[in-house]
Amino acid sequence: MAFVPTMGALHEGHISLIVEAKGPNTLVIASIFVNPTQFNNPSDLEHYPRMEEKDIALLEKAGCDIAFLPSISEMYPEAHKGHWDYGLLSSSLEGKFRPGHFDGVLTIVKRLFEAVSPDRAFFGEKDFQQLAHIKRLAKEEFPSIEVIGCPTVRESDGLAMSSRNLRLSAEERKIAAIISAILFDMKEKRADFTPSELESYGRSQFELASGIELEYLEIVDQKTFAPVADWADSVEPIILVAAYVGSVRLIDNLML
Ligand code: AMP
Repeated sequence: MAFVPTMGALHEGHISLIVEAKGPNTLVIASIFVNPTQFNNPSDLEHYPRMEEKDIALLEKAGCDIAFLPSISEMYPEAHKGHWDYGLLSSSLEGKFRPGHFDGVLTIVKRLFEAVSPDRAFFGEKDFQQLAHIKRLAKEEFPSIEVIGCPTVRESDGLAMSSRNLRLSAEERKIAAIISAILFDMKEKRADFTPSELESYGRSQFELASGIELEYLEIVDQKTFAPVADWADSVEPIILVAAYVGSVRLIDNLML
């Protein structure tokens, strides 16, 4: 059985996971659960888009067999949140700027894995650091579950699809496309720069853009999450970025 956990407000990125999960003779189960323990900002949780009926129709159309919509009391009989420390993976980037976020993610993924007991589970590379955490969780605590990462699905202007994009005004939505444009530009210029020069170049492009506030932009190794000082240090570098457009926090990444 294949499992696709989501927080709903489904878009083509989520649907790509369902399509990837759906093989011959494979039962696909998708969950929709807005997980309170992974939100470190109460306003973000309050404004998180919810549209269950539309989501269920989309899942059905995509060939999903079972939609699992647990209640808060079902997932959290007691308000316990676990704690995991995977070193740099947990303390850097999203771990640094959203304290407790990955503990919330792993708490719910653990409960969902226990409830659903899938053979394979599908997650997006859009949330690259989350995917790395879940791979580690599975390796250590659910060795029978295979965690599969799927490529980021983008809008035609390059913006990574995200449920949070629904909260952008028309003007903010246009501005948000700058995030991926900077990432693609950086990738093109990789050969011209050292990693730290390329980071500085990317950050300066964010400074030039109006309406976007950069939270972080770093080039790290995909496996260790260690900063890449020299291209020779890493065969798999990745740029990871978080930025605010208005009050909406968006993340994106690009493998170099
Ligand atoms: P969410 O509902 O945002 O928690 O996302 C549920 C799953 O969909 C996670 O594994 C995400 O990484 C994945 N996902 C979200 N956006 C995208 C995207 N644009 N492309 C591919 N996967 C995505």
